[in-house]
Amino acid sequence: MATILVIEDNVANMKLAVMLLESAGHAVVTARDAETGLALAREAQPNLILMDVQLPGMDGLEATQLLKGADATRAIPVIALTALAMKGDEERIRAAGCDGYIAKPLAYKEFLATVAARLRASTCPDIPSTRR
Ligand code: MN
Repeated sequence: MATILVIEDNVANMKLAVMLLESAGHAVVTARDAETGLALAREAQPNLILMDVQLPGMDGLEATQLLKGADATRAIPVIALTALAMKGDEERIRAAGCDGYIAKPLAYKEFLATVAARLRASTCPDIPSTRR
């Protein structure tokens, strides 16, 4: 069980993400814009952040850069939620400091598997993550 911050402006996507995460036993904190999300990340110190890329005002990649540039939040893994499926996006997402991404629309099993893998990677740093 973990505390997960979801930053997403689309109501339907947010509802789905919250439902899936709670069904997996996680506590969920939510924000609908980057500024609120940044404040919550500092206060709640979640185990993981799911960050929509396209947000009103400050976008998710800019918000991730701020999180990764601040001592209080840089250790929190960030997974981008992206509707963009264009080539080059993964590069942009990684360059902003995201630890991974999930493509929307959310595929239930893949979504939860990605979240679980990321939480395992950050809670068990002794286990080598190199793929064989
Ligand atoms: Mn959005």
